[in-house]
Amino acid sequence: MRDLDYLIVGTGFSGAVLAERLSSIKKKVLVIEKRSHLGGNSYDYYDEHGILVHKYGPHYFRTNDKNIFNYLSKFTKWRHYEYRVRTSVDGNLYPFPINRDTLNQFFNTNLKTEDEAKEFLKTKIVSIKNPGNAEEQILATLGKELYEKFYKNYTKKQWNIAPTKLESSVTARIPVRYNTDDRYFNEEIQAMPLNGYFKLFENLLENIEIWFNTPFNKVKNDLEYKNLIYTGPIDEFFDYKFGKLPYRSLKFVHENYDKEFYQNWVQINYPNDYDYTRIVEIKHATGQNCSNTTIVKEYPSDQGKPFYPIPTKYNLALYKNYEQEALKLKNSYFIGRLATYRYLNMDEVVKNALDLFQMLQKKK
Ligand SMILES: Cc1cc2nc3c(=O)[nH]c(=O)nc-3n(C[C@H](O)[C@H](O)[C@H](O)COP(=O)(O)OP(=O)(O)OC[C@H]3O[C@@H](n4cnc5c(N)ncnc54)[C@H](O)[C@@H]3O)c2cc1C
Repeated sequence: MRDLDYLIVGTGFSGAVLAERLSSIKKKVLVIEKRSHLGGNSYDYYDEHGILVHKYGPHYFRTNDKNIFNYLSKFTKWRHYEYRVRTSVDGNLYPFPINRDTLNQFFNTNLKTEDEAKEFLKTKIVSIKNPGNAEEQILATLGKELYEKFYKNYTKKQWNIAPTKLESSVTARIPVRYNTDDRYFNEEIQAMPLNGYFKLFENLLENIEIWFNTPFNKVKNDLEYKNLIYTGPIDEFFDYKFGKLPYRSLKFVHENYDKEFYQNWVQINYPNDYDYTRIVEIKHATGQNCSNTTIVKEYPSDQGKPFYPIPTKYNLALYKNYEQEALKLKNSYFIGRLATYRYLNMDEVVKNALDLFQMLQKKK
């Protein structure tokens, strides 16, 4: 059916950006989406209490890449907002990622400069030459006490595997600061789409044909297309022929309160208490002005939607088998977090999509 230049599977940032770019050069594009809404995991909506919430976990946009920010700014205005997070340990709230104030509060010290903080941590860290897993990476950067209280149980709860079995890249993503900067992220640009992600996606995909509730498998034999852009799970595409790629999922429990704010921070982490890992009150970041609030408790789980690829050596090798199969296919492009089995932030996904577009534009 129909002579499409591109069939695009998925309306997350990967699929939406490519659909927008390819349509802009007059390619015939059809987007299919198995869910009933746009936006992939970045989707947000107003809940029954009128609060703008993020359906698949909090999405804090940030980037150092002005090109990406400028590109997205064609589809949204922004609310600049620096995310600040606290971690609850033994009933006290500490700045997280760990910075000099965290050290002073936790160790009851009075470190005044970055050099003092560095020297102090040197007395705490465990000497490990080439940290080979998440536990070693933290021990070599922060030492045993901070590892035990801030990381060990959080990592276990989040991944349900021992930190020694996780690649060091998982925890190496979290910065350690010797100054008193208490922002959650280092990126220069930190902002929320002013009217939410859903509106941003509506603008991106304006005038583009989308079929909702349409899994690829249902229509793949009925559609004719010259090129395929696939942003779904790569193992599903190949009928799991090498086995299933494992993911960690989350269950979200929403609670609404009849007060302006529930907590003072957009996010509080609970490494050691409760079955949930964090409580997010996204209203701090969206800036919504209303008298009630919704919070979300996040419970990590093996069951549910595929959220976090689990980067163990075994799983990454399994993914490589699929990648090799994908490379053999002509005019088929696998992009995004599910098709490349990688945890990618939104700005990275947008960059990859824009790069792929550049490449496709040059193609005859
Ligand atoms: C809990 C959580 C929190 C996050 N927080 C942040 C954050 O704070 N900041 C940040 O930058 N990034 C964050 N991310 C990452 C962000 O979600 C991703 O970068 C982004 O969603 C990736 O876009 P994508 O298009 O590749 O994939 P997705 O957003 O997952 O979109 C894929 C789309 O394809 C559809 N699809 C899949 N398979 C099929 C099929 N077979 N047929 C039809 N449609 C299909 C899906 O329904 C989905 O709509 C977070 C991720 C998670 C899981």
